[in-house]
Amino acid sequence: MIENRVYNFSAGPSILPDEVLLSVRDNLLNYLGSGMSVMEMSHRSKVYDKIINDCIANLRKVMNIPDNYKVLFLQGGATGMFAAIPLNIQKTGVADYIVTGNFSNIASKEAKKYLKEVRIAGSTEAENFSRIPAQEELTLNPDADYVHICQNNTIFGTTWHKLPETGDVPLVADLSSCILSEPVDVSKYGLIYAGVQKNMAPAGFAVVIVREDLLAGAQPICPKIWDFQLQDKKNSMLNTPPTWSIYICGEVMKWILSIGGLDELKARNQKKAALLYDYLDSQSFYKPSAQKDSRSMMNVTFRTASDELDKKFVAESIEAGMTNLKGHRLVGGMRASIYNAMPYEGVEYLVDFMKKFACENG
Ligand code: PMP
Repeated sequence: MIENRVYNFSAGPSILPDEVLLSVRDNLLNYLGSGMSVMEMSHRSKVYDKIINDCIANLRKVMNIPDNYKVLFLQGGATGMFAAIPLNIQKTGVADYIVTGNFSNIASKEAKKYLKEVRIAGSTEAENFSRIPAQEELTLNPDADYVHICQNNTIFGTTWHKLPETGDVPLVADLSSCILSEPVDVSKYGLIYAGVQKNMAPAGFAVVIVREDLLAGAQPICPKIWDFQLQDKKNSMLNTPPTWSIYICGEVMKWILSIGGLDELKARNQKKAALLYDYLDSQSFYKPSAQKDSRSMMNVTFRTASDELDKKFVAESIEAGMTNLKGHRLVGGMRASIYNAMPYEGVEYLVDFMKKFACENG
């Protein structure tokens, strides 16, 4: 780790790879002989054109995205896409939403503004979203335009380990907090979207990966900056794109390719998550918040026996050189977000701290 940097367990915006930050620093004032920073560059310039095209091409390579899927970079974050998706891919105006946490809940409410009917095809709210529903618990409508899930629930620390079976109905998935953490079979989805501020880039846009046959044309009230077909024609540059964030995203793609791609990241992420969960399972001072079969590899949630001890844990973790371990208010306790850029040593450091804290306060 670079000197004077903390272990940052933030859920997003989040830690970026040291290698990327160093390369960005080295090119900050004069990007590849252009005489200016990427921040200052016209998005219509040749230099920038290469930045965005390489970024998209490398993302396609990293995720092995089939040719019949479009890749779009759109502003408004994942929250913007909660509206943009129903505005772009509705046919009959009826869709199924499976609610497994805060963001899928917000997504369903946003979609209601633009669809005739939003059905809640499953929910684990009664158990405070501590798990993912089983296939038998879902009541899916075979005539729905799409089924929406949030694949990794950032706040609750749960993840869909097996995707729901939706038959011929396209699966639309929010991968904001798990994209690029392991290989996914893109062809299983109708649409994947993600806010980039966790595993991809600094905050600034959402990536949308959509099967081209789903693009039947945006609804007339759809803002044109979110019109998927139009943005595809304009290479995601209908207006000024978030140039800086896209540039860093491109650097993150190069970093992923340089270390061996998503297979390597999956191996690293599994090792980090296993270290933390194995420790949690081996003791009784901390209690994991998510049920075992639904646990997330990216966001690990746990608590002590009391709110006071949780507070003490968070305060002392900051003194020890770690940040953002406080859990979201909807769950309480602690949350360690261990995204791609978190080194194994960071998780080791956290587990050592947890052992010491348990010893002193148990
Ligand atoms: N979905 C998920 C799973 C998230 O974690 C978040 C934000 N943390 C959002 C959606 C909302 O993203 P944004 O802030 O980009 O709108």
